[in-house]
Amino acid sequence: MPRQESYPYASKIQYRRPQTTAPRRRPNTTGAARPGQAPGRSPDWYAMRRRRRRNRRLVRGGLLVALLCVVAAVVMFLIPSVEQILAAVGDSGSEPATAPAAAKAAAAPEPELPVVAIDPGHGGVDRGSEGLGFGEYEMTWNTANALYDLLEADGRFSPYLTITEEESQDPDCARIKPSGRAQRANAQGAQLLLSIHGNSDSAESTSGYECYPIPPGSANHDESLRFAQYLTEGFGALGQRLRGVDGIRYIYYGENDEKLLYESTDTSVHDDPTFGVLEYAQCPAVLSEQCFITNSADVDLLGDEDGCQHAAQLYYEAICSWFGMEPNQ
Ligand SMILES: [Zn+2]
Repeated sequence: MPRQESYPYASKIQYRRPQTTAPRRRPNTTGAARPGQAPGRSPDWYAMRRRRRRNRRLVRGGLLVALLCVVAAVVMFLIPSVEQILAAVGDSGSEPATAPAAAKAAAAPEPELPVVAIDPGHGGVDRGSEGLGFGEYEMTWNTANALYDLLEADGRFSPYLTITEEESQDPDCARIKPSGRAQRANAQGAQLLLSIHGNSDSAESTSGYECYPIPPGSANHDESLRFAQYLTEGFGALGQRLRGVDGIRYIYYGENDEKLLYESTDTSVHDDPTFGVLEYAQCPAVLSEQCFITNSADVDLLGDEDGCQHAAQLYYEAICSWFGMEPNQ
């Protein structure tokens, strides 16, 4: 078959055909055929073609905008996910996050001081017994606050009052039950609880000091008894008569709510409940009957304004001894 021969020496230069420059377009306002337009097509045909092109451009533009919106939405959706992934990687990674650790170190609290809960017996609608010109709730509040000040000034304790001034002094304020007072002390993480009361008797001659630790058989009995021993030591040294064997007694409420009293020498264990504040305390606790507020000698020594201060000092020294510290007040 004849075959088309190629020219072995054909020039590699390719000549371009001369390019005719298209005329610049101008708005065709007349509808007349422009140069280059095929003759025979009406101006309407060209106008329709321009409209179609314009419509196509609008559609393309719209599609582009829609596409951009979709892309933006996807990116916004993904960014939080990426942050979460990075955070998870940071948490579980071998390199610990340093910022929270540094914050913790900066916020590290001072070594915690032992909380000593002071319970001013009675208050509000519960005035306690009536003394020589004052109520039991007044003497307990004054003593408790004097003790609070001593412990705070000492600097080695964190004193806590189980009731507010309003709960103590406002006669319309509801009674805070002994169990509730103990629970408040527990909530503070108290290491020791002292409940302050004043004794009373129909016979004005009755006098002396006595206190009630958590009784035998309970978890905090031994440490409560040790605190009670420091208390009787201090009150005895002041010259106050110690009631019973040594001023330390255990009390229970019997079946008919009658009080059952035992001396410290009787270490038998009883199922009956003791004072509510001791029953609910989760730390060593003692209820102290500071003095007979119905006896004038007791009031002079431990019940009036100076007496409350004296009693507070004795309580403070006993607390220091219990913690194995020397008083600095
Ligand atoms: Zn009382």
